Amino acid sequence: MLGFIVDLDGTVYRGGRLLAGSSAALDLLRELGHRIVFVTNNSVANPADYQRKLTGLGVQAAREEVISTNEVIAAHLVERGDDWQPVLAIGEEPLEEALRAAGLRLTAEWQVAGSVALGWDRRFTYRKLEAICRARAQGTPVVATNPDAMCPVEDGEVPDCGALIAAVERATGRPLEEVVGKPSPIMADAALARLRVDRSNCWVVGDRLETDIAMARTAGLQSALVLTGVSTRASVAASAHRPTQVCDDLAAVARFIVEGE
Ligand SMILES: [Mg+2]
Repeated sequence: MLGFIVDLDGTVYRGGRLLAGSSAALDLLRELGHRIVFVTNNSVANPADYQRKLTGLGVQAAREEVISTNEVIAAHLVERGDDWQPVLAIGEEPLEEALRAAGLRLTAEWQVAGSVALGWDRRFTYRKLEAICRARAQGTPVVATNPDAMCPVEDGEVPDCGALIAAVERATGRPLEEVVGKPSPIMADAALARLRVDRSNCWVVGDRLETDIAMARTAGLQSALVLTGVSTRASVAASAHRPTQVCDDLAAVARFIVEGE
């Protein structure tokens, strides 16, 4: 049995459009007895939203097969213990929901925060930036959901959590304590725990060298880069993040796996 940690945008669908052959490829992997989890760095939607989107596009997906950075950061903060609470959450509603669902205590006051959880926040303000920096100045750890500088949207790209991280790091003069999303192995460990498949039998499938493939490498997993999203065949040669396999699309990944059986 193999486990597949599958990226969503650029791998299964692109924006609101299902990529040709991706649904059938996932069905084929399931029929062979393999397990799948979908992972996303996006922190402004719930796993339930993704499950609905996938199902709406005709892709079989159970709620527990979708992992977002919000759940990963929540589980990580729980693991850090009581000293890291209460948590000052700077992000959108899904981040707060995930933190609460994990049983974490939240606060709106940087003065009393045990940690700060920073996610993509499309209502980010100077006051929020100030709160994070003041918390940091008194030694409070700041953990972020994902390092992506930009997020692709229908008509281009918009600033993502990575841009907010950069503002905090620039202002405070040092890197954040932790960023849990891809390429962090923290995200890979969360996916592996959900898959319950031996690490040596797990693959990461994604379209981005610097997140999906980099995570596979740091976590010691095999990886397949698909060319249906951001990265191209030419970018592989120029990158330090070499995938195990380069495939045109998810259907080609499934064919490659079938041939190997
Ligand atoms: Mg992607």
